[in-house]
Amino acid sequence: MGPVSLRRDQTDHLTVDGLRFSVRRSTRRRTVGITVKRDGELVVAAPARASTRRLEAVVRDKLPWVRRKLAEFEALGPPPQPRRFVAGELFPYLGRDYPLVFDDRPAQPVALVAGTLAVDRSLDGSARAAVVVWYQERAREHIERDVARLVPLVGAAPATVVVRDLGKRRWGVCDHRSRTVSFHWHLVTLPPDLIEYVVVHELTHLHEPNHAKGFWRRVEDVLPECRQLRRRLRESGDALVF
Ligand SMILES: [Zn+2]
Repeated sequence: MGPVSLRRDQTDHLTVDGLRFSVRRSTRRRTVGITVKRDGELVVAAPARASTRRLEAVVRDKLPWVRRKLAEFEALGPPPQPRRFVAGELFPYLGRDYPLVFDDRPAQPVALVAGTLAVDRSLDGSARAAVVVWYQERAREHIERDVARLVPLVGAAPATVVVRDLGKRRWGVCDHRSRTVSFHWHLVTLPPDLIEYVVVHELTHLHEPNHAKGFWRRVEDVLPECRQLRRRLRESGDALVF
């Protein structure tokens, strides 16, 4: 029998200016994309047959952005660990941290009590689910109130407001055609002025689907300090991990 030809490993590496990138090739990809992960890992997603020279050119072009991202992530410190739901653990809500306490006879399963997040001790293993429900309810209340307050200022009203889990990368999204604005429930962990910025941003997309000049002009009309708010929002990337 002849030798069995093994498929070549589809991951290799590329080093540019001292930075090492994993290269992941795929036959379905047509463009070269670069990802900087939270832990500092660098990944180049490439079409199956793209030459090393082409990859290197794209990476070189993007190096300032890559270095900026790495610096941003470094400034954030180590990525947050999933919460363990133990007494004293801090839970962010509207920009403040509340230590978890277990309550033996609470009026509600989860509530803010005297500067703490009080959770019914008898919930035991289902404390996590109860706290998530609590956050989601607070998020819905807060965001719906913000939308009602900000619609007249932005001058555009959505047909539908959705509050749900939008994954790890987005705080909000606007579907221009159905006039639906959706918000991540994790928003309620952030300070109110940042939530307000995200609401104004998505409502403004009802006027302008893209981030063109006219879009930012409208946002700035409502929130003159929107540049600072954007920067602070970027810096508070992952307030909550469950
Ligand atoms: Zn946008």
